[in-house]
Amino acid sequence: ADVTAETPAPVAAPEIHVKVSSRDRLVFPESDVTKGDLADYYAKVAPVMLPWAANRPISLVRCPQGRGKACFFQKHDAGSFGDHVKQVPIREKDGGSEDYLYLDDADGLVACVQMGTIEFHGWGSSVATLEQPDRMVFDLDPDEGLDFGHVKKAAADLKEHLAEIGLTSFAMLSGGKGVHVVVPLKPQAEWPAVKDFADRFSRALAGAEPERFTATMSKAKRKGRIFIDWLRNQRGSTAVLPYVARARAGAPVAVPVSWAELRDVENAHIWSVRDGDALIERANSRALAGWGFADQVLPDL
Ligand code: ATP
Ligand code: MN
Ligand code: MN
Repeated sequence: ADVTAETPAPVAAPEIHVKVSSRDRLVFPESDVTKGDLADYYAKVAPVMLPWAANRPISLVRCPQGRGKACFFQKHDAGSFGDHVKQVPIREKDGGSEDYLYLDDADGLVACVQMGTIEFHGWGSSVATLEQPDRMVFDLDPDEGLDFGHVKKAAADLKEHLAEIGLTSFAMLSGGKGVHVVVPLKPQAEWPAVKDFADRFSRALAGAEPERFTATMSKAKRKGRIFIDWLRNQRGSTAVLPYVARARAGAPVAVPVSWAELRDVENAHIWSVRDGDALIERANSRALAGWGFADQVLPDL
């Protein structure tokens, strides 16, 4: 595809004010990627990542000893990340309230890397409209060993079914095994309605083609099928954010792709943190123009 004609000038990597210690520590031993490399990667992609990652509650996958060692999922913190990582109080089911993390700039991303973070996962709503999701995600999880061609076909079919009910959707390679189908929403419907929609939409697909899909988490029911993981769409759930490095061998990255590109992709982890420059160029290319944007609300289902 000709992407040169209207490609905007690349955005310069922002200046970082966070000190990264132990820059030489290996985070991805198999690929020689150090903590410094990872910090530089996030600083570089910050301009294209922050539109998706900023100003929404996040959970972190931290692996202070590097990938493959003890990693943990973190939602809350007492303040050890410093001023660049912000907190927002969120009402809990029990009536209490907990502070959740969010960030709004490249320093926030790097501050998290300084604390051993590899992955950033985000809520489907932003801090300004916490109760009204601005993003619905169908996380396609193939059974072990299922060919990636089936996953691509499933994603494309989801897109068609969504289009039939008036919803525009976008594809993202997870950096792992699957594809996420992302549906941007005007923050209008509240969590219970969005969850209910995602649930019923997924169950309808699984009901119509039970040999291809399942909408229940059970691993037994996944045999040879794709689990349409609609559970990302409950209040408090998260999904991996665009351009996030995964704590998996090879330092793969979650990457938005156009529907046309998806047809030619061989697996969900074709880019890595070594590809920062290429990812920026892609993000600004015509193929990805408008990715993730649609002015729409949920139809009645
Ligand atoms: P893949 O394509 O390999 O499935 P993925 O990012 O979709 O990659 P999943 O295992 O399907 O990985 O996880 C879906 C989401 O569930 C993650 O993106 C994350 O936001 C959330 N998640 C994963 N582990 C935890 C955890 N320990 N606690 C809470 N949420 C988690
Ligand atoms: Mn998944
Ligand atoms: Mn999943």
